[in-house]
Amino acid sequence: MFEFTIAGTQGAARAGTLALPHGAVPTPAFMPVGTYGAVRGLHPDEVERAGAQIILGNTYHLHLRPGEATIQTMGGIHRFSSWSRPMLTDSGGFQVFSLAGLRTIAEEGVEFTSHIDGSVRSLTPERSMDVQWALGADVAMAFDHVVPGQASHELAEDGMERTLRWLDRCRGRHAQLADAPPPVNGQPSTVNQTLWPIVQGGIHEDLRLRSLEGTLARGPWTGIAVGGLSVGEPKPVMYGVLDLLASRLPQDQPRYLMGVGFPEDLLEGIARGVDLFDCVAATRNGRHGSAWTSTGRLNIRKAAHRTDELPLDPLCDCATCSRFSRGYLRHLFVAGEMLGLRLVSLHNVRFLIRLGEEARRTILAGDFDRWSREWLRRYHGRERE
Ligand SMILES: [Zn+2]
Repeated sequence: MFEFTIAGTQGAARAGTLALPHGAVPTPAFMPVGTYGAVRGLHPDEVERAGAQIILGNTYHLHLRPGEATIQTMGGIHRFSSWSRPMLTDSGGFQVFSLAGLRTIAEEGVEFTSHIDGSVRSLTPERSMDVQWALGADVAMAFDHVVPGQASHELAEDGMERTLRWLDRCRGRHAQLADAPPPVNGQPSTVNQTLWPIVQGGIHEDLRLRSLEGTLARGPWTGIAVGGLSVGEPKPVMYGVLDLLASRLPQDQPRYLMGVGFPEDLLEGIARGVDLFDCVAATRNGRHGSAWTSTGRLNIRKAAHRTDELPLDPLCDCATCSRFSRGYLRHLFVAGEMLGLRLVSLHNVRFLIRLGEEARRTILAGDFDRWSREWLRRYHGRERE
């Protein structure tokens, strides 16, 4: 279990399969985000039919509402949300560090004010492990100290070193939970979960390398994440960090680039050896009527689409594009009909999943470089927004 096998490579790009307790995940793969235990607005059947093999849950949000004890009592996050395929939970770190002004950082952990009822809460490495264990996803993430994208060397170093100290505490607690699982509702625990560490260090190459070295020294791991990117730094800087890490990350483990998921980032990341991605943009943009297409972004609310007979993207195979015209989708948005938000979200989710599928296919065929270059040229060729 938790094994990663590579079926083919082209340059740094890899096509693999990740074996998790709830199923196998072919990679490269985009993981839709289910913030509250649901990919926003979509039925799990729709998410499955869109090809999602794994989705992500947010520890911060599920801890506040309904609380991990409720989910654990209801049989864990898979059973509670009726999602039978693999899941990964983040550590809550990214959310609590985003609550500027609402949190206090100390070596012990982070104290924060709940955005729901104003109560003072805290997350520590141990607490994050406890919460994620109670949720019961296949993969738990280490609790890390996230710094802003343009953070100074001093600040990024501080966060990176604390992340390593916290990793020791996460690993210790997670091992305790796995070795002697606390019973649930008086029954033995059935949780089978692995823990992945997160490489930090901001945009500073020396810190990224030290973070990677310190992280690997604390292994072995079954997967490794790169965090703290796509948080305000220019894209070439993010690609530079990935270039730096690509040859130094263990070849035999899946690599997860956290919070990254615009189409061009997926392709640039895959070319640099990334296997897994997640991002809320697919559903968030979808709710605002912004669709990715093979020729760039499209804003469905524009008057130009009023009598447009074409689907969102004529090259897309999603349930939205196979049935509905842009003219109809625009009407739904203008009328405030909730089906519109759902249909564009569904298209965007399928769009990114299909990008991962096509990348996999072309890597195995030895054609990824040519395909991705042509794909990016077409995508950037005509911005319609
Ligand atoms: Zn579509």
